[in-house]
Amino acid sequence: MEASSGSETDGDFNGMSIFPLIETVVDGGSEVLPAFGRPISVSAVFKSDRQGRFVEFFRIYRPTDKNEKLEPFKRCYLHLSQVVKIGPKLQMWVVEDSDANEGPSQEFKNNGTKLETVASTDANTLAKNKFEEKIDPSSAKMYFHYYGQLLHQQNMLQDYVRTGTYYAAVIENHADFHGKVVVDVGAGSGILSLFAAQASAKHVYAIEASAMADNARLLIAGSPSLSQRITVIHGKVEEVELPEKADILISDPMGTLLVNERMLESYIIARDRFLVPNGKMFPSRGRLHMAPFRDELLYGEIANKALFWQQKNYYGVDLTALRDKAFQGYFSQPVVDAFDPRLLIAQPVIHDIDFVTAKEEDFFEIDVPLQFKSSVSAGVHGLACWFDVLFDGSAVPRWLTTSPGSPTTHWYQIRCLISQPLCVLAGQPVTGRLHMIAHSSQSYTVHLTLSASSMTPDLNGVGGTQTSTVELDLKEPYYRMTQFPAYAWFQQEQTQQPVSSSLLLRYDSV
Ligand code: SAH
Repeated sequence: MEASSGSETDGDFNGMSIFPLIETVVDGGSEVLPAFGRPISVSAVFKSDRQGRFVEFFRIYRPTDKNEKLEPFKRCYLHLSQVVKIGPKLQMWVVEDSDANEGPSQEFKNNGTKLETVASTDANTLAKNKFEEKIDPSSAKMYFHYYGQLLHQQNMLQDYVRTGTYYAAVIENHADFHGKVVVDVGAGSGILSLFAAQASAKHVYAIEASAMADNARLLIAGSPSLSQRITVIHGKVEEVELPEKADILISDPMGTLLVNERMLESYIIARDRFLVPNGKMFPSRGRLHMAPFRDELLYGEIANKALFWQQKNYYGVDLTALRDKAFQGYFSQPVVDAFDPRLLIAQPVIHDIDFVTAKEEDFFEIDVPLQFKSSVSAGVHGLACWFDVLFDGSAVPRWLTTSPGSPTTHWYQIRCLISQPLCVLAGQPVTGRLHMIAHSSQSYTVHLTLSASSMTPDLNGVGGTQTSTVELDLKEPYYRMTQFPAYAWFQQEQTQQPVSSSLLLRYDSV
């Protein structure tokens, strides 16, 4: 623990959750808290590093005898602690761990006047929050394990389209950051916090839930001129407390199809918890674009995979009982690659999301009616999707786009195939629905329906309708990156970026 080697000095209690709990503000001395009264009378000492910059823990003392001589009772590491709001005045410190020499983990309750121990119960139960209520713990564990690894942060950093656009958006709009309090929502390596500090932010709170928070601290410490203005907080944005409100939020919460990973919900929660009224959000808006496409090659490739189960004599075993299931299984995987935009057969439909006004619940179910007009006579093999987000800077608004035909990002594009292609004529309408339902594994079940009037009349002799529906799991994508798409290859050569087989998607690639 960095702070354990530090001296006891006055601490600038940057970014810590203790203000609402203790009513006396640090003012120069090492002894800070007055006694909280019975049943346990405690006081706390703040520890900081030698420069008095980062306060990593506070220590609670309790009287040992009648003389009220104090002894160390508990060391509370701030990154292992959190405040849970139980009521308007009642709060609870949940300490997951503590110094072995200083007593077992406990919870403390503050009713505004005194701090008292409460029966030690399961800290996780007490820490129930919006994130834990809706996300499966095993999914969250894998998710934060993934982002705790440097190689995956590097993958995002090496997406120069992404990182370069963030950099340009921040630097071009430095006036939006100058002298401002910034919160980096899901800071990862801390890169966006560093950009904000470069743009003269007054202070940046870098909140990161995965173990990457420690690496962010190291990386940030490597830029001493910026590090004084950045505080890394290890925890979920749903849980941590900040000592002040933010003027601007910065984040990269986008997953494939914009909403995968369900991190946009955390971004909205962070907005409601930390942002001042009328504060800025970088990005402030996202658009999901959807258009029908034709791609016989891709369709054949997917359909062929299921042909394996067509065998009647596989070492004497008839596999055909599973043929339909296999077929369905392959078509339930969204295809991830960069495709040639000439495969699109209609103008896209756009689903616009305003991050400034959206509610967390808006992301639980997303229902988009689809209406297209085919520009060619073709077979329709599915729906192609991509997104863009807006950095609405006051000097230079800037879009980060993942559209086909633009320089490829690590998000690529997503295509949802239909197992029964439609046949359409030029000018013919294609209608349908994209219905996405969030699930507890931080992703979505996607129901896609596409319809067009049929060229052949139905049994009654009237014009029929051809309809194809498919259910996909956004958590189980098919990475079609082994045969690097010709189109993406062409772009890579143009932009002189090294082609890397490790250019994977974000968490989806687990
Ligand atoms: N901001 C970094 C990392 C973006 S990836 C960059 O732009 O390079 C998203 C990061 O958000 C991951 O590191 C992930 O661990 C973190 N994250 C996701 N949900 C979070 C939450 N609810 N609270 C805090 N961090 C979260």
